[in-house]
Amino acid sequence: MTEFGFVSAGRIIFGPGVSRRLPGISSEFGSRALVVTGANPDRFADRLEEVAGALDSLSTFEVDSEPSIELIEKGVSRGRDAGSDVVIALGGGSVIDAGKAIAGLLGNAGKLIDYLEVIGGAQPLPKPGLPFIAAPTTAGTGSEVTKNAVVYSPLHRVKVSFRSPYLIPRVALVDPELTYLLPPGITAASGLDALTQVLEPFVSRFANPLTDGICREGLTRAARSIRRVYSDPDNTSREDMSLASLFGGLALANAGLGAVHGLAGPLGGLIKAPHGSICACLLPHVAAENLRALKSLPDASVQLARFREVAQLLTGQPDAQIEEGLNWLIETCEMLRIPRLSELGLTRAEIPALVEQSLKASSMKGNPVDLTADDLATIVDAAF
Ligand code: NAD
Repeated sequence: MTEFGFVSAGRIIFGPGVSRRLPGISSEFGSRALVVTGANPDRFADRLEEVAGALDSLSTFEVDSEPSIELIEKGVSRGRDAGSDVVIALGGGSVIDAGKAIAGLLGNAGKLIDYLEVIGGAQPLPKPGLPFIAAPTTAGTGSEVTKNAVVYSPLHRVKVSFRSPYLIPRVALVDPELTYLLPPGITAASGLDALTQVLEPFVSRFANPLTDGICREGLTRAARSIRRVYSDPDNTSREDMSLASLFGGLALANAGLGAVHGLAGPLGGLIKAPHGSICACLLPHVAAENLRALKSLPDASVQLARFREVAQLLTGQPDAQIEEGLNWLIETCEMLRIPRLSELGLTRAEIPALVEQSLKASSMKGNPVDLTADDLATIVDAAF
């Protein structure tokens, strides 16, 4: 067995109602909080009031879309002006990523671009940032336990990562109750992101026994609950999806991802569409192309056995074959009304540049088999 490591948030607290502990936990780390929220902070006004009551001061910073370089720099200025000593994110993946990047930069000199992968200096972050607490209100990204923040660069029209072990949240407070009122469209997109993030690390080149166990449990829970949470959500299906999301974050931070995310980063810079919808419409086609490429290798029995196990976990059938797993993915995307890439705004003229960008994406390194530019174009064409 090869060596492996495992990193995660300093503390993970999971369960219905645990977000009520935010005031006490925040005051362990500081007294002047910068709270990063979504565009509708009233949604969780009671939680914010409780935090404000426990601290000396609270400034808020609203994030209304997937965060750009400029937005994060503004958040850093807000935190500096307010003299913040702790950063709290209460929102979806966009809010958590913004909070994570802001907290990291508040403890360091330099501009965000110095640290960004692919389009920036990719410099290592020199030291820890401000303490950061993350409480997700969607069930999809697992960003509350990962070491990267995904950032949009309008200039380069691409989404890339700001990555450092120092960005890992000190506390991840995962409360499924915060997701109970998610509307069906956001439930579908974020839920399929969670599903992708327990599937890609399971077949990744960097999978290890610890992430394997996490992925198996995450795949089982996501598979049994994703259709229900969309059509007729109950507390159990919400809890399953919050766990699957958390497990996806734990898995991706330690086993990497694959071509779905390799393509989704550049795609997210080209089209204004939910990240989870982009992942979902690519997922069955990436799986099909990976299988085709694996079958052309002299011996890919280990990787193919992984895909067979995925099929069994998704369908709940112990003797399911790979093809049945692929059909399950396609049917689920249809049931959750995931649009095609053309409906999400991609044009054919953009495909060659997209393929070129995605070959450079860091997520591509975990893909179980090398895919060529032609293979990636085939995937995009199939999802178009
Ligand atoms: P999001 O944060 O962009 O939120 C989507 C929408 O849901 C927003 O309109 C938001 O206001 C709304 N919303 C959030 N919580 C709600 C609630 N409880 N009730 C009603 N509406 C609510 O979506 P997301 O899928 O959570 O995050 C996507 C972002 O996360 C993308 O930028 C993606 O690249 C990134 N991401 C990061 C990581 C990581 O490890 N850092 C992993 C996966 C994805």
